[in-house]
Amino acid sequence: MEPQQRSPLLDVKGNIELKRALAKAPSRLPLPGSRLKRGPDQMEEDLEPEKKRTRGLGTKVATSHPRAMALTTVPQTQGQTAVLKIPRKTGPRCSTAIATVLKNQKPGPAVPAQKPGTTAPPPVVGRKKPSKRPAWDLKGQLCDLNAELKCCRERTQMLDQENQQLRNQLREAQQQATALGAERRTLEEELARMRAQAEKGQRELGNLSAQVLELEERLGTQEGLVQELQKEQLELQEERRGLAALLEEQERRLQASEAALSGSQAEVASLRQEAAAQAALLAKREERLHGLEMERRRLHNQLQELKGNVRVFCRVRPVLPGESTPPPGFLLFPSGPSGPSDPPTRLSLSRSDERRGTLSGAPAAPTRHDFSFDRVFPPGCGQEEVFEEISMLVQSALDGYPVCIFAYGQTGSGKTFTMEGGPGGDPQVEGLIPRALRHLFSVAQELSGQGWTYSFVASYVEIYNETVRDLLATGTRKGHGGECEIRRAGPGSEELTVTNARYVPVSCEREVEALLHLARQNRAVARTAQNERSSRSHSVFQLQISGEHAGRGLQCAAPLSLVDLAGSERLDPGLALGPGERERLRETQAINSSLSTLGLVIMALSNKESHVPYRNSKLTYLLQNSLGGSAKMLMFVNISPLEENVSESLNSLRFASKVRSLPVPSLSGLLGIIGFSTPTLLSFRPGGTVHPEWMYICQASGALPTWILFFFFFF
Ligand code: ADP
Ligand code: MG
Repeated sequence: MEPQQRSPLLDVKGNIELKRALAKAPSRLPLPGSRLKRGPDQMEEDLEPEKKRTRGLGTKVATSHPRAMALTTVPQTQGQTAVLKIPRKTGPRCSTAIATVLKNQKPGPAVPAQKPGTTAPPPVVGRKKPSKRPAWDLKGQLCDLNAELKCCRERTQMLDQENQQLRNQLREAQQQATALGAERRTLEEELARMRAQAEKGQRELGNLSAQVLELEERLGTQEGLVQELQKEQLELQEERRGLAALLEEQERRLQASEAALSGSQAEVASLRQEAAAQAALLAKREERLHGLEMERRRLHNQLQELKGNVRVFCRVRPVLPGESTPPPGFLLFPSGPSGPSDPPTRLSLSRSDERRGTLSGAPAAPTRHDFSFDRVFPPGCGQEEVFEEISMLVQSALDGYPVCIFAYGQTGSGKTFTMEGGPGGDPQVEGLIPRALRHLFSVAQELSGQGWTYSFVASYVEIYNETVRDLLATGTRKGHGGECEIRRAGPGSEELTVTNARYVPVSCEREVEALLHLARQNRAVARTAQNERSSRSHSVFQLQISGEHAGRGLQCAAPLSLVDLAGSERLDPGLALGPGERERLRETQAINSSLSTLGLVIMALSNKESHVPYRNSKLTYLLQNSLGGSAKMLMFVNISPLEENVSESLNSLRFASKVRSLPVPSLSGLLGIIGFSTPTLLSFRPGGTVHPEWMYICQASGALPTWILFFFFFF
């Protein structure tokens, strides 16, 4: 009985061995049908190789295959020997057949061994050969032949049976081979499947190996990372310990601080109370300071108005090196009522008229001309002393009142020196313009502490032969300027602007110096182009001052105009009129016309006339906002100390005296005195109304003292 399950490989091995046996079997087994037809000799030949092999093996074969004893003997009784070769491995059935054959056969003597390499001899009967019958014993011979025939027939019958058995065995073996072939195919298929599986497994194994390698690599990386992290963790732990210690320290400090804080909080609370009290006090003081500032402005304005909204100062320049010294007593500066300590206000000029003579023929005594002005500056007065007098006016401009300062006089009398300063940039000889601006900047800085913010915008133009030229022109317009026109800033606006002129914001002295330098350059270029004309043109420096107190909603604005007028000298009537002189005559007429208009305008303003002829000259038209109303006007009349200029000096002094003799105070001054002064502290808002607070201060604080002043002024 076969085992239930066995390895396919064992099956295959068994199959292969079986196949080998089967392959060898036909050569050993007699072919059905054909074997029987052959004679006993042929059969013996078929059996010969096996016999040879058996003989060669000797006893070993008998030991290896005890069950398949190949050689049997035909029974001796039949006188024949039959050798039957049985395959060694033919399965159990074959063994059974052999056993059957052996049972039917009687044991006989062994076939003698044949020598290897010799041709097989005819079968030898193992029995003892009967003694040869005599030839005459035919009967005996026949009997022997019959016995032999009978024996052969039995043997043939036995061989047929054996043949039949072998055929059956062969059929069974073939069936088994077919079954085994089918099994082999199945196994081969299974083997192919197994091989495919093995290949697949191999591939998977390869993939898995690659994955394993990759994973090993990753593992290595991860291990490195882990080591780093562990190191980092150690560091962090160390840091944490340090931080914990620090935290502990901080907590200790915090506790100490909290203790200190609670103490400080109480202190802060008391300080806050104190600060609140101080703030209230400060606000009160600020309020008071503001009231005082407003009062100061009002009183300052009243003082200026009492001094006169139109003032005239006379300045006599010193005799310059190379000039002939005037005779003694030519110009005298009598002391004031309080003696020499009083600043001089009078001037006497002595003129000896050569046309007049005495009856005796002796020269007539010089005629003395006395003039009185608001202030007279003899030749020794420096620029600083002059500025001190007008610094109050500059303050008025900052307070919101228009201020206009003129320098009037003949050419060479010191007008430009007074307004701009002397040559060389010496601070000692700095003129009114730089000094006034420095003063403005400094006071504006002080007022910023009280909440006032000021801004300044400068312009500088020249009026020559009734044409306006920008002295701050730069680039291609430098020295030539363009067509400048005086226009209103907008429809219905009181503000005037000069078209094509530069308006430069200034905030420090250096910027002003740069502007004055530029103006001097522009004048120098014009001089080379059209001969000297600076003395025959009016130079107008204007500074628009704007102030704002954002906290109180106050605003003020006023122009400060500093004018260096053209030389006031007249043309010599006896001069021959060549082409150059005609031009000069036209210039002089234009200058005289504009100066006369200036006088007329001042007069009209002083007389409160309904019509003021501003439009009669470019100069007055440009300055109309700086004249009249509450505006402050100051005229410097510059005088040459030389005797040769006496005629022009007298003309200048007379003109100035005329200006000074105009009614004082002005209407606005009177209104100020009675407590209803409405200075130009006007809001820029549409409508330009007076700020109510300002009105309140004027009325409340100024009414009583100004009435007293009014009384003293008129009686
Ligand atoms: P104007 O502008 O009236 O024509 P300037 O200002 O040019 O006159 O003065 C003429 C000259 O007199 C200049 O050299 C100037 O330096 C000099 N000068 C004028 N006034 C004084 C003064 N007060 N002290 C010294 N020099 C003066
Ligand atoms: Mg000049």
